[in-house]
Amino acid sequence: MIGPRRVAAILMVLATTVVCACAPGGNPQDGDSQDGGRPVVLTTFTVLADIAANVAGEHLKVESITKPGAEIHGYEPTPGDIKKAARADLILDNGLNLEAWFAQFVDDIDVPHVVLSDGIEPISISADAYAGSPNPHAWMSPLNVQIYADNAAAAFAGLDPEHAADYQANAARYRGELQQVQDDLVDQLRAVPTSQRALVTCEGAFSYLARDTGLTEKYIWPVNAEQQATPQQIASTIDFVAENTVPAVFCESTVSDAPMQRVVEATGARYGGTLYVDSLSAADGPVPTYLELIRHDADTIAAALTASRTP
Ligand SMILES: [Zn+2]
Repeated sequence: MIGPRRVAAILMVLATTVVCACAPGGNPQDGDSQDGGRPVVLTTFTVLADIAANVAGEHLKVESITKPGAEIHGYEPTPGDIKKAARADLILDNGLNLEAWFAQFVDDIDVPHVVLSDGIEPISISADAYAGSPNPHAWMSPLNVQIYADNAAAAFAGLDPEHAADYQANAARYRGELQQVQDDLVDQLRAVPTSQRALVTCEGAFSYLARDTGLTEKYIWPVNAEQQATPQQIASTIDFVAENTVPAVFCESTVSDAPMQRVVEATGARYGGTLYVDSLSAADGPVPTYLELIRHDADTIAAALTASRTP
């Protein structure tokens, strides 16, 4: 995590670079704020950027601070991130302790920020050192993302009152798309035979999705951090998969699947594929948008759990 001393150092760099960027004849590519007069909105990660862009429509420029594939929990902001953020008009974060680096990040920048998860019903983490903390992955329920969209519309109306009606209309349209994806997700996963309805993943990122779809959730570690996949955590996952004859297990795109491959070797369960949670893929990858992320995960989970277990 970024410490106060490091932030102070970065801000000194920033003070110098801002002077350079503001000098006459500065490279226009370097100007991150005010894109052709459009206010600039930054989000902490790619999933939020896509959700926000759906609500913003053409009126705002929306960008993610972190790139596709980035590990977002323990991300360390770069001097470039801080420079970019200091020039933005609004910053959106997830909240629920997702972005461990974020509080310090915005403390040092005079830009308003809005927490998109405000108003959702958090699910508590039940295991390990995080027990009792809210599970931050609330966007893994499209129903929660309907609330994110409304929060974004309200934030954008405050930023740009002239287009408030458009933001509301965009959010309403997007809520409809989210409802469709949610309905399909629930139908698809509730069709998995009851005895095979267990979702075993690396990170405990699927509590909201598991709740919505009636899956039993088991994970190796609760939240991505430096210390994860201890021998005890792997042994507990192996026991769960063996006892419940779980047909397939999964891991997420932003972490190594090596610990889950050990579960596969020990149990004979199939490796069911890569799930996306904490990041979208690049534009030419399998999940360039949030709606595609949910569809991809639903398809991957349903296919792997429905197939019969290899002997
Ligand atoms: Zn995560």
